[in-house]
Amino acid sequence: MSVSLERLARNQALFREVNERLLELAEGFQDGSMQFVCECSNQECTQTVNMNHEEYESVRGRSTFFVIASGHEVLAVEKIIDRRDGWTIVQKVTASDYVTETDPRRHASGV
Ligand SMILES: [Zn+2]
Repeated sequence: MSVSLERLARNQALFREVNERLLELAEGFQDGSMQFVCECSNQECTQTVNMNHEEYESVRGRSTFFVIASGHEVLAVEKIIDRRDGWTIVQKVTASDYVTETDPRRHASGV
């Protein structure tokens, strides 16, 4: 794995951590939608996406899935799973071991 691909994956893993923290802070969030940060590989990206809890969980259910603002996908490192209004679910095709290892939920469950 090249250094740049690893860096892209590291950015995405970091944004995922941020979203998990946002979800924690939004205690009792079940209905309606909330803002999550775009989990694209661009370190400078500050875009947010609006998702409901169920949609967010559908992304987080897989270690290699990330949610990004529409148009932020980098097809060299990920493939598109689903396109929605304003956001896209992508699956990492490079660095999938890395993003699986750094999955906060995998870590939390002690697997
Ligand atoms: Zn982005």
